[in-house]
Formats: sequence, structure tokens, C-alpha cells
Amino acid sequence: MQVSDKLMLLRSRMDAAGVDACIIPSGDPHLSEYPADHWKVREWLSEFTGSAGTLVVTREEAALWTDSRYYLQAEEQLDELTIQLFRDGQPGTPDYASWLCEVLMPGDKVAVNGANLSITQLRTLTRQLRTGQIQIDSVSSVAEDIWASRPTIPEDTIFMHDDDWAGKTRAEKLLEIREIMKKEGATHYITAALDEVAWTLNLRGTDVLYNPVFHAYLIIEHDQAKLFVNPHKLTAQIAQKLAIDDVKVYLYDDFYKHIKDQSTDAVYFIDADKINSAIFAALSPKSEKREGLSIINRLKACKNAIELNHLKETLINDGVAMVQFLYWLEENVVSCKVSELSAAKKLKSFRAGQQGFMGESFGAISAYGPHGAIVHYNANAQTDAVLKPEGIYLIDSGGQYLGGTTDITRTIALGTPSQQAKEDFTLVLKGHIALANAIFPAGSRGVHLDILARKALWEKGLNYGHGTGHGIGYFLNVHEGPQNIRPQDNGIELKPGMVSSNEPGLYRQGEYGIRIENLILCKEKYETEFGKFLEFETLTLCPIDKTLIEKSLMTSEEIAWLNQYHQRVFDVLKAHLTEAQAEWLKNKTSALE
Ligand code: ZN
Ligand code: ZN
Repeated sequence: MQVSDKLMLLRSRMDAAGVDACIIPSGDPHLSEYPADHWKVREWLSEFTGSAGTLVVTREEAALWTDSRYYLQAEEQLDELTIQLFRDGQPGTPDYASWLCEVLMPGDKVAVNGANLSITQLRTLTRQLRTGQIQIDSVSSVAEDIWASRPTIPEDTIFMHDDDWAGKTRAEKLLEIREIMKKEGATHYITAALDEVAWTLNLRGTDVLYNPVFHAYLIIEHDQAKLFVNPHKLTAQIAQKLAIDDVKVYLYDDFYKHIKDQSTDAVYFIDADKINSAIFAALSPKSEKREGLSIINRLKACKNAIELNHLKETLINDGVAMVQFLYWLEENVVSCKVSELSAAKKLKSFRAGQQGFMGESFGAISAYGPHGAIVHYNANAQTDAVLKPEGIYLIDSGGQYLGGTTDITRTIALGTPSQQAKEDFTLVLKGHIALANAIFPAGSRGVHLDILARKALWEKGLNYGHGTGHGIGYFLNVHEGPQNIRPQDNGIELKPGMVSSNEPGLYRQGEYGIRIENLILCKEKYETEFGKFLEFETLTLCPIDKTLIEKSLMTSEEIAWLNQYHQRVFDVLKAHLTEAQAEWLKNKTSALE
């Protein structure tokens, strides 16, 4: 079916349902970053495959909003005569709620499937539409209903992430959660976030690409927990282990009915940003709700000592794979037979040779020359550029391992770099080092540190349009909250045990992109009469391309950091490499004088 035919069908259903517009967000009832195909209704309708985007269809018009990561892709994939493109974040671009207030009449009705919006998102949308006297129907599934060939929900088998890897048993985690529930005065805690369910139960799945999760809901009460999952996904052994910990299994499809039937004296703890609004709507209005930052998210963010030990091992393995890749690339780029896609595939094969490898943590961004300036570039058969022994190459990639999740970016010169590229790279590196070296009082939030990564760029009138750091899961999602390091304040303190990325960048459209990304662990530094102070330990082990450094821009402290880092990379990785690779690494990590 053509996009125009699908929209015609949707409009006839909208007519029948008495709605004047329909909002189709990206996302699923678990508010996943990577939803399973079953929930990609926006993608099916619009044929725009980017992960972020909202389609809005009125009787006459259709429009799609997406952010700067996907402008180019949307331009390529959308027929602008059928669906207009709105570039979120560009000056003068209205948000879709304001646009709807413009194009609709007071009294008109907008339909949206509340299961794909968080409670917070629905509240904001309702408030915005109210200014145009637009009503909202948030239980509509009018878009999903026309999708005849809709894929089913994945039924992959769930597997255990053993206590030896997790560092804490399921029972210990449930106990910790219940202690916080008590403090919050809650009797019931609902989570729909798939990584939270997986973390709590020490289980993993393969329902979605890149994220080792499975589709389920979890309700934690004081004396039991209820897992809503398709039961044939569970092995007999897992079912038995869950029963021992008083985790009862219910049908996935019965979740909404179950919460509707709950007694009205339950006190629910919910995170309005992590729970979809259909769940909220299903709870009895008479029941009490305590809202706050997800308890599991708080606990999961601070990695325990066993998790950190495994993660450090994993980063040695991942570093070995990266060095093997960079060595191979340098050997092979001269042949002009390596492309963006084949390079990414080769890197995956080096990771696959490492212990505990379970898959990639996201689709690698393998970007040559101007493609590097497209922040979330995804090479495909049409764009796949051949790497030549000249210009700049950016590779952002990561692996899922039983002992942790990795995310690393390296930018390398494939020939002799231009002076501008060297200066740009050095400014990005200065920001990376400033954040890696930060010492800051306990209680600081990401927003307080973000400036460190940008200062050197700002002083030359340069900047980058993405955040500096995100949290990362432990054999879970590559992007994980609640902490981040961004110019926007999220209210979340950085705490010991949190692992985040440190990834400043710089993008010259039409020329190249530069990003240097390592994972950093927040830990205690010292306590003085002025209180407790924290610092970061850089965990990622991989050389940073010295040929891109303009040394005259570096301070002696920055050079010392780089030399120490490189010494550590060499000392730790050399034993895992062939003689030729170790010799190569020795050269790549030799001191900058
Ligand atoms: Zn990355
Ligand atoms: Zn990252």
C-alpha cells in the first residue's frame, strides 16, 4: 500500500470515529528507545524509518516532526507532497501541538494512543491543546487498527543473567526496592520499562535488536511480585526460580485488566516519565498515587562492585577488538576496498571474537568524510562510501557482553589531516580531557560539568548540538538514565558507581565529524572541611589518534593526561594482542612530548 492510500484509509476511520486529527508518536507501551516492529505504526504509515519522529494527520494535511539527527533521512524518505516535514529544533518550527491549534478549530478532537505516551507527555499535550480548545481522545488506536499486516509481538525465549554477573540476587534487589517503597509509603510499584524489569529479575531476552530485553510488565508488592509475560517465553527452570522468590507469572495481555481490577486502597508508586498514560488511566481514580523518580532506575544506575569488575574486564576485551580493528583498517585502507558498511561488519567480527559477546549495543555509526557530520548517520547500500587513504573517519560503536555494555567513538585520520581538522580535533580532545579530569563536589549534576567539555570549543566560537554524556546500562540499554551530562538540567545528582559516556564532538557540514567517546565511572575523590568530592575514572581503553593533535593547543597537564592514558592502554592491552598488533599499539600510544 502506498503512503497516500494508508493516509486515505486512516482518514476514513478518523471520520467514522469522529476525530479531526490523529497523532502517531514513535514508541511502544514500554516507552522503549528501540521498539519491536509490532509497535512501529508511525514508521509503517509514513515510511520514515528514523527512531525519533511524530506523525500528525488531519483531514487535509499530514506532517512529520523529527530532530536534527534525522533531517536528511526524513528528506530522503518522505514524499513532501504527501507528508510535510517539520524540523524540530530549527528556529521558527512550531511544535506539533501548536501547529494543531493553528490548523484545527475550537471544539475539534484529536486522537492519540495513550499507551505510546508517558503520563508526563500526555499531560503536557493535553495542556497545550487546551489553549486551542482542542479535545483529546487518548484511548484511540485508530492508526494501529488499519495496519492489516502488523507484525506480532516477539516470542523469544528469556534467559538468565546469572547472579555471578549481576552481583546481586533477584531477592536482594526486590528487598532494596521494597525498602524504598516503604519510605515512599507505597504498597504497589508498577514498572513497564523493559530494562527495569530485566535488571530487577536478573533476566534478559532478545525481543529487540541491540537491547537485551523482553516484553513484560512488573508489579512489585511487599509480599509478592507479578510478572506479566507471555509464559511460553519462560523456561521451566526460570519459572521455578521466579516462584521461589514469590514472583508470580501472569499473561502479558492481562496486565491492563489486572490493574483495573485492583483494590482501591492500593498506594501506587509510579514514575510519570516511565509509565505510559494508558496504565495511569487504568488505575482506579480512587487509589492513591505517589509520583517520583523510578526506584529501579535509581538503583540500577549505580553499578555494584561485581558489575564494575566485570565491566572493566569487558572494556579490556572491547579495547582489544577496537585495536584489532584500527590495526586492520590502517593495513587495508590503502587498497580502497573497505567501505563504511564493510568496516562496521569487520569491527563486529572482532568483537564477536571476544569472550561474552552477545551482539552490538546499537547500529555502528561508520562515517567517512562528510558523513561524519551527520550525527546519527547510518550507512546503507546507497550511501556506503569507500574509505580512501585520506580524510577523516568516525566510528561510534558498542557491544553487548554478559559483563557489560560498551559505547566508544574514535575519529581517525586516514591520510595527512588538514590543519583545520587537527585544530578541531584538539579542541574536542581538550573538552574530553577536562571532563575526564573533573573533580567536583558531591551533589553536582551533569549540567554543572557539561561546560567543561565545551569551554575550549566555545572560546573559538564552536559548539556541538548534542549532549556530552549519557548513562549506560550493564548488559542492558546503551542509553540509560537517570543521569546525563548535558546543557539542560535534569535535576539528577551524579553519584559514585554511575557510568556515563564522555563524548564531546564537532561537526563541519559537508566536511567531517569529530567525536571522542570513552566511558567514565563516577567515584569518591576525597572529603575535606568543604564536604565530599567526586571524580571520574576513564574505563574505555583504546588509543586516541595522535596524528590529529595540534600540540601547540594543548597544556602540559593535558599532554600528561593523554600520555598516562596511552601508557595504561598499552600496558593493559598488549598481552592480548599479536606481536605485530602490540608493536603497532606501542607506536600509537607512545608519549607526546
Ligand atoms: Zn557512542
Ligand atoms: Zn554514547
